[in-house]
Amino acid sequence: MRCPLLYRFRVIDKLPEKPSEAATRGTLVHAVLERLFDAPAADRTAPKAKALIPGQWDRLLESKPELTELFEGDPGGERLAGWLGEAERLVERWFSLEDPTRLEPAERELFVETELDSGLRLRGVIDRVDVTPAGEVRIVDYKTGKAPRPEYAEGALFQMKFYALVVWRLKNVVPRRLQLVYLGSGDVLTYDPVPADLERVERKLLALWDAIRLATETGEWRPRPTKLCGWCDHQAVCPEFGGTPPVYPLSVRPAESVEAVQGRMEPDRSGAGRPVALEGP
Ligand code: SF4
Repeated sequence: MRCPLLYRFRVIDKLPEKPSEAATRGTLVHAVLERLFDAPAADRTAPKAKALIPGQWDRLLESKPELTELFEGDPGGERLAGWLGEAERLVERWFSLEDPTRLEPAERELFVETELDSGLRLRGVIDRVDVTPAGEVRIVDYKTGKAPRPEYAEGALFQMKFYALVVWRLKNVVPRRLQLVYLGSGDVLTYDPVPADLERVERKLLALWDAIRLATETGEWRPRPTKLCGWCDHQAVCPEFGGTPPVYPLSVRPAESVEAVQGRMEPDRSGAGRPVALEGP
């Protein structure tokens, strides 16, 4: 949705990307918020949460040793200390938005996967699922960035509606509430979906998958430049920046209707969201 060419570089060419400080801090903060719920409710305090940061950072480094690259050339450790300090501030801000002593999540970091009638398989990881005694479901996602401006909120909610669709298809329950918690700006964005919303998302996903399939067969992946190009690791091979993409690694058939199908794809300019995946039949 954001940039078809970026999708090609990531999914088909599998070009490597450098770890980023912001994304890694997001992973660290998510791990801390997930682990905090291991403690009894009364112990889920801000100091306890902040105390989890060093251990979770060590675990992250153990599972992804390449992250040590992030702080190479920082012998005094000042940059690392500043980065960890920002992670602490994000964790602390969460306590002004939610009260974990009063929450008992039904699930944390829940992997979900389902197959639509068309055979398209959807999967993703939901940060937190809360269920009321009456069985109402709330899907919660943490963002370490800032809340989008209102005109971009729809893009940010798309990911949440995607999760809601998967939960609906899996459990036959439409989640009562979708909640995005923005730790970067201290905002909470909520949306109460109805079945028609999720049916719209399903149609959009099917159109998106058609476009992906067609582009895969024809090799026609268009760049879609936005302000987010500033964060793209692939400018050197992107025509928008004077680069040439690598030779397409798949066999292709002539493009007839790429434009027609790609025209059905709405761009997502939110830049928000953890990866969600869709996989064809
Ligand atoms: S630089 Fe921009 S247009 Fe080019 S691939 Fe990356 S996101 Fe797409």
